[in-house]
Amino acid sequence: MERKVPHEVQTIITALESAGFEAYIVGGCVRDMLLGREPNDWDVTTNATPEKVQKIFPQSVYENDFGTVGIKTDADGAALKIVEVTTYRIEGNYSDKRHPDAIRFAKTIEEDLSRRDFTVNACAAAVVGGAMSVIVDPYSGQADLEKKLIRAVGKPEDRFGEDALRMLRAVRFAAQLGFDIEPQTQAAIARDAALLAHISQERIRDEFSKLIMAPGAAWGMQILYTLGLLRFIVPELIEGIGMAQNKHHIFTVWEHNLRALDYAVSKKYSFEVRLASLLHDVGKPRTKRGDGPDATFYAHEIIGGRMTKKILERLRYANHIVEYVTHLVRYHLFYYNVGEVSEAGVRRFIARVGAESIDDLIKVREADRIGSGVPKAVPYKLRHLLFMIDKVKRDPISPKALKINGSEVMETLKIVPGPRVGHILNALLEEVIDDPARNTRAYLEKRAQELDALSDAELEALRARAEGAKEEFEGAAETEMKRKHHV
Ligand code: ATP
Ligand code: MG
Repeated sequence: MERKVPHEVQTIITALESAGFEAYIVGGCVRDMLLGREPNDWDVTTNATPEKVQKIFPQSVYENDFGTVGIKTDADGAALKIVEVTTYRIEGNYSDKRHPDAIRFAKTIEEDLSRRDFTVNACAAAVVGGAMSVIVDPYSGQADLEKKLIRAVGKPEDRFGEDALRMLRAVRFAAQLGFDIEPQTQAAIARDAALLAHISQERIRDEFSKLIMAPGAAWGMQILYTLGLLRFIVPELIEGIGMAQNKHHIFTVWEHNLRALDYAVSKKYSFEVRLASLLHDVGKPRTKRGDGPDATFYAHEIIGGRMTKKILERLRYANHIVEYVTHLVRYHLFYYNVGEVSEAGVRRFIARVGAESIDDLIKVREADRIGSGVPKAVPYKLRHLLFMIDKVKRDPISPKALKINGSEVMETLKIVPGPRVGHILNALLEEVIDDPARNTRAYLEKRAQELDALSDAELEALRARAEGAKEEFEGAAETEMKRKHHV
């Protein structure tokens, strides 16, 4: 099989070689090529020092002090813009278990490969005529690719002592590639798992995210637990291990969470939906009341939402991810039964959870249902809800959609800005949600005048009643659901 290398990479290698240096492609890209996969990015390693590399490529960017130069390429395809060129190096001591005390450049490619994490990541390849050529493979990475094994380069305990993140990387690569972790490498992880406590949340997060996006994510989560790593990443999930649910569930909380994740992965759902599927029942252990077939988990979605926020903040995820996944967990538990919920109820549901998150919320709910061992992919009820949502989704459900706005209300009623304006607008919105035909300027002006005649207390009573109506999905229906389903 000919394995073509992008021409930008070839150009960089040729330029280095013409200047009298060695240059190889190395690491993930070689591994992926050997597996017949499309590499994510291309890394080049060379015996030229960073200063020399910069001289050869004047438009290059010197990225950091780790001996890596990022070279901008002329690729017009969006995929390839910067190729990283790293000078051969060996690492010094890791007294803090995460940062080498000093970077030392090495003389040979073999030395460079010796500091890489796993044998399958420790192959380099020459590039000749635009294709991958002779492979430098001192640690039998190719044999391990055949055997589908993630094996540490050298003595695993030494390597994990240098950089404990490698333990999590082992699980991430295994889950991405569908490989096993070689037994001695596994044993070293199990023994040294606690070293992960030395690693920054940001580095853990980046590997954890790649794991969640891997085809074997659910399996990987199980391995994280088995090897003792999970307690340094999401210890909250451990609370569900071995915890039976009730007569409506055949799986423990942990198994159910993993199955929900596995379903989301199998459907190639987004990162956020996968995370929410994994975490949707994280609040169950702390809300369990009673035992055996009649145990309950009231308010687990509320507790679970709070826990999710803490977990994701701790892992330093960006705010929009924290907020969105928390929202999905918080609202995953909606009840819908054909014929029981009115169109106005569906509109209120959309108003409450946000039109933009409905699709994902339904995906999480789907993952929840399938993860509990329910056979049908999209149960009839969810399909019907989708149909209802489709039907009402162009109806006015937010204040913005009202045919009257705040200043128009003030003008009509000759009142000044204040809470009263907001209360009147909310009351108008409630009426329009009940019946979209009321969304006309004439009707709303007339109703605004009638509402303005009410006292503050009467307006407040209206607001409270509207709040109650919002519970159609979660309140009254929830009581019913609890009775029927013991969720
Ligand atoms: P991908 O980019 O597809 O996630 P990759 O193998 O390229 O996979 P990177 O994290 O980009 O993974 O690292 C590139 C290469 O650098 C690895 O293949 C490995 O050789 C080396 N490497 C990266 N991180 C470490 C580490 N913590 N310890 C030792 N070697 C590492
Ligand atoms: Mg990479």
